[in-house]
Amino acid sequence: MAENNLNNKANEEVMSGNFIHTFIDEDIAEGGQYEGKTVHTRFPPEPNGYLHIGHAKAIYIDFATAEKYNGMCNLRMDDTNPTKEDVEYVDAIKEDIHWLGFDWDDRFYYASEYFEAMYGFALELIEKGLAYVCELNAEEMQKFRGDLKTPAQSPYRDRPIEESLDLFKRMRNGEFPDGAMTLRAKIDLASGNFNMRDPVIYRINHMNHHRTGNEWCIYPMYDFAHPIEDAMEGITHSLCTLEFESHRPLYDWVIENISAPAKPRQIEFARLGINNTVMSKRKLRALVEEGHVSGWDDPRMPTICGLRRRGYTPRSIRSFCEQIGVAKVNSTVEYSFLEHCLRDDLNDTAQRLMGVLHPIKLVITNYPEDKTEEFTVENNPNHPEDGSRTITFSRECYIECDDFLEVPFKKYQRLYPGNEVRLKSAYVVKCTGCEKDEDGNVTTVFAEYDPETRGGDTPDGRKVRGTIHWVDANNYVDAEVRLYSNLFTDPEPDTGDKNFLDYLNPESLVVLNNCKIEASVKNNERDTKFQFMRLGYFCLDNKDSNEDHFVFNRSVSLKDGFKKK
Ligand code: ATP
Ligand code: MG
Repeated sequence: MAENNLNNKANEEVMSGNFIHTFIDEDIAEGGQYEGKTVHTRFPPEPNGYLHIGHAKAIYIDFATAEKYNGMCNLRMDDTNPTKEDVEYVDAIKEDIHWLGFDWDDRFYYASEYFEAMYGFALELIEKGLAYVCELNAEEMQKFRGDLKTPAQSPYRDRPIEESLDLFKRMRNGEFPDGAMTLRAKIDLASGNFNMRDPVIYRINHMNHHRTGNEWCIYPMYDFAHPIEDAMEGITHSLCTLEFESHRPLYDWVIENISAPAKPRQIEFARLGINNTVMSKRKLRALVEEGHVSGWDDPRMPTICGLRRRGYTPRSIRSFCEQIGVAKVNSTVEYSFLEHCLRDDLNDTAQRLMGVLHPIKLVITNYPEDKTEEFTVENNPNHPEDGSRTITFSRECYIECDDFLEVPFKKYQRLYPGNEVRLKSAYVVKCTGCEKDEDGNVTTVFAEYDPETRGGDTPDGRKVRGTIHWVDANNYVDAEVRLYSNLFTDPEPDTGDKNFLDYLNPESLVVLNNCKIEASVKNNERDTKFQFMRLGYFCLDNKDSNEDHFVFNRSVSLKDGFKKK
């Protein structure tokens, strides 16, 4: 309870200035329509793909809003469309929401559980003269939909109630083929809002449903089904994305005209878009099915499971959702802001390590051949309480090949003949030269160490400008490291008539096979996040790594590309 209160307080601060909360406050205030009621929201994914970062925003808004008001949030699979078995997606959706840190308790539902109730409400509308069976086919319906100046038409609109009742029941009994007729709400053929021009609320579809099988051959349309689902679950506030704004009059119409067990209120917020990626399940599925990525959890994907594998933490994603806030206008958020949120979290929590991605050997010629020293170093200099670890040092180590230049450029402060640098936490060494192969590539760098500088300090106070990272060549693990960048070269790969597949970035994945990582990496839990010093944040790829083969994903580089505007 105490923890709950703390959460609420934190949320209150973060989510102040949130128009959704203003609406809810009005609703529960004295005299408001929900006075005294428990705030009840829901997250209603269609189980036809994996959740993405856009869904995370919706999840955050739905669950954190309920939390703020000490209310409840349901998880509902929106499966009113008959599709193939999607158990994989259902399980993955649950896993992702739990991973983000939210819970629906025992309130897990399928919209298909309400098919019978929806059918009953449809009969109610027909009996009230508020719905009719229409025999226009899709093409004719399109033709008769009218325009802003001309109302729509249906020759079936004034069909007697009895006749519609009979036809609708026979539709349910499977007497008619797909598309032969529909049930339409009788609202306003001249409405300026085309969603109100006698919208179709039921269609015939002889298709197997993954939960109800062949029980139904008519299926409710989203605009009719959704308010009923909400009402059946006692939802008070149905939070959804902006594209449903023009459907709200229909949502309200359905609730007003059926004997609804509750009167939920729909509130819309802006969809999240992020640059250089796509955010629709259909497009993400195409990337998977056409083999452009290794799966839904490819670390380049904006899916929750992809971000998780990339090394994102629940805290970083929640913090991102908090900070982007809610708005009434769709906008695109910079990918670098998502990365900024991750960096922020990992800077605080990640275990520091040394790893060399492009190794060359450094031989310390005046260091004894068979000697090994141990150094104790902090796991996270920001948090001494995170403890320390032991690293080893011997005559040979690996350094990054670009930390040596035979001929330095101006201001280059790393290794070049005659120059001193600090091997992080170990010794100051002075470069004495290098060895090259017949093509002129440097194969080994030579240096001499100063035994007086153990730990990296110079007792005489002389300045050593450069500090480089290194890995003991007698004690390391070999690793494959995967570097990721934008999946698409175009910031908006799917706007207008662009085909997003034309903008795939051929360099979105770079694999380095010969990386050398500090041996202490083996002592960590598999899901530990690391900062490879000077390089970035990395995590072990739990899927492709095994005891003999370490694979690391670069989660994010160290340099913050996010510029506050
Ligand atoms: P997609 O086009 O990716 O399939 P969708 O809206 O069809 O998206 P649903 O599974 O129906 O996906 O979405 C479940 C909930 O998540 C809905 O309430 C929807 O509004 C919300 N949602 C989906 N995409 C986003 C997004 N990009 N930003 C914010 N909310 C989103
Ligand atoms: Mg959808």
